[in-house]
Amino acid sequence: MTEHLSTVAGVAVDTRHWIGGERVASAETFTDVSPIDGSTLAEIARGTAMDAAAAVAAAKAAFPGWAATPRAERARLLHAIADGVEKRLEDLAIVETHDNGALLRSHRRGVMPRAAHNFRFFADWLLKLDHEDFDTRGHTNTVSWDPAGPCVLITPWNAPLMLATWKVAPALAAGNTVILKPAEWTPLTASLLADIAAEAGLPAGVLNVVQGYGSEIGDVLTSHPDIRRISFTGSVPTAKRISASAAANLTPLSLELGGKSPLLVFADTDLDLAVDLAVEQYDNAGQVCLAATRVLVEEPLVDEFTRRFVAKAAELRQGDPREATTDIGPNIHPRQLEKIDGFVQRAIAAGARAVIGGHRGAGQHYAPTLLTDVAQDSEIVQEEVFGPVLTLQTFTTEDEAVRLANDTRFGLAATVATGDHERAERVTAQLVAGTVWANCFFVRDLRAPFGGSRHSGVGREGGTWSFDFYCDVKNTVSAP
Ligand code: NAD
Repeated sequence: MTEHLSTVAGVAVDTRHWIGGERVASAETFTDVSPIDGSTLAEIARGTAMDAAAAVAAAKAAFPGWAATPRAERARLLHAIADGVEKRLEDLAIVETHDNGALLRSHRRGVMPRAAHNFRFFADWLLKLDHEDFDTRGHTNTVSWDPAGPCVLITPWNAPLMLATWKVAPALAAGNTVILKPAEWTPLTASLLADIAAEAGLPAGVLNVVQGYGSEIGDVLTSHPDIRRISFTGSVPTAKRISASAAANLTPLSLELGGKSPLLVFADTDLDLAVDLAVEQYDNAGQVCLAATRVLVEEPLVDEFTRRFVAKAAELRQGDPREATTDIGPNIHPRQLEKIDGFVQRAIAAGARAVIGGHRGAGQHYAPTLLTDVAQDSEIVQEEVFGPVLTLQTFTTEDEAVRLANDTRFGLAATVATGDHERAERVTAQLVAGTVWANCFFVRDLRAPFGGSRHSGVGREGGTWSFDFYCDVKNTVSAP
């Protein structure tokens, strides 16, 4: 082992940046800590403005060659990366679990297969990306999706490799080169992805990974004139800062941000389903952007719903995310735990009642919490907590349910539980959200548009929407 390799759960991870097809160190490092037990996992290169600029230069130099690479060859390479992700699935799963504390079994069964699928899906979509030519007074209109240029992709810690590949795959498929900046709390799988891409034969400079603090290198990346697209997933305050920085060059942005999504439970619902949907919101320790954290229940059902919910939530086992019996792992960081508890204690001080939870758990866990007696305009109802904290409110009419559901500044997702199909149609049509689920949750298809309304985001990605964003879409009009 060299000083630049760390061993995490038996897996060697290079702690340096990946720029222009080479590993590059920084003079300083930062410490990456596991949320499972607070142990040090690695000392990671702490990117500087110079490192960020070098990555942009590498992406710029590699762009003409990659953009000119035939679609079929780009698609072949993306499939080769998917093969590599599948080959190293166990390494990626165990490293990610140590890094972000999410369940190992979810990483094995769901998250890492999806990371591979992201590459396959966008490779295949690229090959069928087409538009029927159309005629204008004898002239032919031909639409093409041209590569846009170097892209900056910035990702959060709650689903690190899944969210990175959700951006990297379409950006590369589109013929762009990429600088990926993973979150500083979860830098490891991005480094493994660089190894996998290099092994698959991706040319030098096409994918670059810069590690470090967003506050230190973010502005350099997002204000750089050579960057043609920025795709960001993270918090609203950071999105505002990035938007301001990108404005200098009018760099197009895709922003996938936070939420405060509602779950509307009508009295005519299948109660087992509604309770399951509500308890599911504790998945990933509540660190899910789409989570329906505001549970709205029709008045006659509330006592029975609450009783069943409490019984079901009590069965959840918090513990070591590597254990097969664990349902909820730790939260990501002591600072995040502090933030979650702050929200809960302020809510309780303002009159909320904790039906369950309302306090920290062992280690870096927060007890699954359900708060009632919360006012619609209170902080706990209006702000994203990003932990295992739900609020419970009641309604008496469909109109009131819709009004409460739409009454935040967010609009990422919404879920409706009802046994009445007509009601489902009526209510889903009125909800302001990028994704609405009727009697289900978290069913995702990469062909579908994904994104948020209002403060939950700008733009949509997924299927053709991803290519619309990552490409310079061109219309060529030819005379007869
Ligand atoms: P964050 O905004 O703090 O950080 C996200 C990323 O931005 C990190 O890589 C960070 O280093 C970087 N960053 C920080 N300052 C920057 C700057 N000035 N310039 C450029 N980059 C900078 O968010 P987080 O706490 O890591 O993530 C949690 C948030 O992400 C929650 O709000 C959650 O809802 C949201 N999220 C949204 C989706 C979605 O698809 N809509 C998915 C997952 C998470």
